[in-house]
Amino acid sequence: MTSSCACNAVKPHQLPRGWRKNPAGNVTRIKKEQRRLRKALRGVQSWLDDRIDRIPVQQINALHINRYEYLIDLAELERIVAELAVRLGDLPDDLLAEAVTAAYRQGTGDEVANLAALTSAYTREVTQVIQSDPWQRRVALIRSRVFEEMAGFESETGRDLRRVLRRAVEDGENPMALKDLLSERFSVAQSRAERIARTEVVGAYRRARWDEDQDANERLGIKTGLLWISAFAPNTRPSHAALNGEVVTQDFVRDFYSRDANGINCMCSQTSVLLDGDGNPVSPDVIERVKSAAPATDGVGIG
Ligand SMILES: [Zn+2]
Repeated sequence: MTSSCACNAVKPHQLPRGWRKNPAGNVTRIKKEQRRLRKALRGVQSWLDDRIDRIPVQQINALHINRYEYLIDLAELERIVAELAVRLGDLPDDLLAEAVTAAYRQGTGDEVANLAALTSAYTREVTQVIQSDPWQRRVALIRSRVFEEMAGFESETGRDLRRVLRRAVEDGENPMALKDLLSERFSVAQSRAERIARTEVVGAYRRARWDEDQDANERLGIKTGLLWISAFAPNTRPSHAALNGEVVTQDFVRDFYSRDANGINCMCSQTSVLLDGDGNPVSPDVIERVKSAAPATDGVGIG
């Protein structure tokens, strides 16, 4: 279907599917990765519990004091500690990196579709974008960021668990209390892993949209702004919710997300809108739609 002259014609703006509730989407992907990480951590925990169960313990009763002597030599304790580090290092970082890559690819696809729907001046195909060197380089950077985050998480979790384990052995703590303490530490680790999955997946999706928007401006000369869509989840920060419906610049979003841990757990998204020569949005109606959206009260269900 060809129109007589669609030169730079402005088309109606389409918002992402389900934008009111989950502007950045990816909920299923995040939940899947969180489930995978939880399961892997549970595996490490049950191995450690089992390993502790196999340490002979002798109870010492002296007056009112209950002490336990762990009949384990230092070399054996160090072997447990070393294996713990190996098992934490075996968490599925590569699968998380895959999921983050997929989220980035989806963000590119969504922004390509958005820009193509906005103006006929946007002529790129998603396959062409994804095969380009700049795109491949960005993905490589995003993947290395995931591996770095996970390596930091694994080594800090290992250090935390080691500290608890060594102290219990030194202080002759009740083995049941030790396991409770470890269980607490594992649940902290679990929340942190879940946060990494959520932050990295959504962050990649959002970044892909900015990157394609930036390319459209810099390489194709299309003048756009980024329309902010807040998630309005129960834990959405007021400073993020306040930006809902605002049209911001590339510099603004990149600066915003580079400080105050704004990227952590953020479920907001941004989508390109066309600007006229004076920098005003070409279709203000879409901005009104976003602004007038009633906050979703049932939240996004993933914190
Ligand atoms: Zn946010």
